Amino acid sequence: MQDLYRRAARDIAGARHIVALTGAGISVESGIPPFRGPGGIWEKLDPMEYAHIDAFMRDPARVWRALIADMKAVLDRARPNDAHKGLVRLEQMGKLKTIITQNVDGLHQAAGSSDVIEFHGNFAWQRCLACGQRVATAELDMAEMPPRCACGGIFRPECVFFGEMIAPVNLSRSQNAAAQCDLMLVVGTSAMVQPAALMPAIARQAGATVIEINFEPTPLTGQVAHYSLLGKAGETFNAILAELAAESEAGPHAEDIR
Ligand code: NAD
Ligand code: ZN
Repeated sequence: MQDLYRRAARDIAGARHIVALTGAGISVESGIPPFRGPGGIWEKLDPMEYAHIDAFMRDPARVWRALIADMKAVLDRARPNDAHKGLVRLEQMGKLKTIITQNVDGLHQAAGSSDVIEFHGNFAWQRCLACGQRVATAELDMAEMPPRCACGGIFRPECVFFGEMIAPVNLSRSQNAAAQCDLMLVVGTSAMVQPAALMPAIARQAGATVIEINFEPTPLTGQVAHYSLLGKAGETFNAILAELAAESEAGPHAEDIR
């Protein structure tokens, strides 16, 4: 594993334009459960029953009670972890340019990343289905389920549900970012949700090195990813950044000295 951290540090040191694609796994160490995998929300709920737009429209109160209200409580408490901070560090080093995130938790922005494409929207805002009025989720009155606007309309989070389209501007910006990078870091995504899962293939097709960081193997492992670092995202970032620091202290001729 140490060799792979070193390899990743060297690839990062040699890169000029890094783009990261992140998924629910990057926020697990911040206390937010992922959808798939151990401890995932799907162990308890059927996605098509709750996270599909048709399910929401059929019975908004049910989806609010089972999924959205809990999510609000969890997100209210969550703070960025070492993986979010590691990506900020790579931006400060002039390496990382853009983050494409499937997450709706706002933790990349909270950590200080400046260019974040929120592929699946965000949870910070709610929109009234009837009049379009927006309200910050933090200020939402949760006494009544589903929460309602002054006009009587039902609020929905500004996230993309299954069965809904990705905002065209987010899709085209992400495709461009993927095609322009020389290194893509794919962090904590099961690569099962399309079209987000296509971004690593676009990057590789365009000649970028693709490095995956995940707790377990995914469809990208040994396929689209050149190599995969298996482990928790925060710990893995700390290990890579330590290698990067050691490399820069040793100077450009470290290889000759060793
Ligand atoms: P996913 O839930 O499908 O998969 C999570 C992945 O993270 C898995 O491959 C798992 O092995 C990995 N993982 C778990 N713990 C990890 C850790 N500590 N370090 C590294 N990797 C870890 O997530 P997804 O692919 O992002 O896609 C599902 C959809 O669910 C996305 O659209 C996303 O918007 C949504 N979602 C978002 C949040 C959030 O905003 N934090 C939380 C749950 C789901
Ligand atoms: Zn309204």
